[in-house]
Amino acid sequence: MFTDTHAHLNLDPFYEDVQPYIDRALDAGVSKIIVPSIDLITSERAISLADKYDNIFAAVGIHPHDSTDASDEYLHVLEEMLKHPKVCAIGEIGLDYFRDYAPEDIQKRIFRGQIELAKDKGYPIIIHNRAADADTYAILEEADYFNAQFHCYGSDEAFAQKVLKKGALISFTGVVTFAKKVKELVKTLPLEKLMIETDCPWMAPIPHRGKQNEPAYVVEVAKAYGDIFNVSLDEIARITTNTAKMFFKI
Ligand SMILES: [Zn+2]
Ligand SMILES: [Zn+2]
Repeated sequence: MFTDTHAHLNLDPFYEDVQPYIDRALDAGVSKIIVPSIDLITSERAISLADKYDNIFAAVGIHPHDSTDASDEYLHVLEEMLKHPKVCAIGEIGLDYFRDYAPEDIQKRIFRGQIELAKDKGYPIIIHNRAADADTYAILEEADYFNAQFHCYGSDEAFAQKVLKKGALISFTGVVTFAKKVKELVKTLPLEKLMIETDCPWMAPIPHRGKQNEPAYVVEVAKAYGDIFNVSLDEIARITTNTAKMFFKI
């Protein structure tokens, strides 16, 4: 049984009718799905999906792209949301200096606020880090909090070793099915520190490249890990699901 640790089922085109995606995921052996959020509205949506579907768990939070729009009340709202039994993490949160949709000082402030909340309440965080390794690390270090998943990992091996040493986990998307550099990076990492994700609707794996991604396709990411580590698919499923279970406490 697989766990897709990052599926945006609270966004279009999924949110309108999630059922077929859930059905196909279950058929493919994807028994648990974590739905991360990008703002307060999608956080509400993630919770309503978690209420409706046994196999869905919600993460609530403000994405760096959306940090400019965060209300003064956002931390209080998130804190209330954490009381829901199926909210298992704060995410996705972090820094994105590649797109730079929000001013960097605002991104940092919103990232810090959410880390403090996670630390205070004892929740793991899902990190979105793009072209911001140094500041992401510095902020986590300053908060002394590495109970974190570096999702859609795109940094180098040295940075991976640095965050793994602090106790963080890493996950890869369908990119691992087609990018040689990513395959080579994965080979250097300990399998028990890795999780799998789709980041759907984006990042579709081979053989679905160019199409809309969905949770069922996370199996392709697991297959890629299997090839890289020369381990059976069942074993990859067992190890990555166990890691997700411990990290998200689901
Ligand atoms: Zn992300
Ligand atoms: Zn995402």
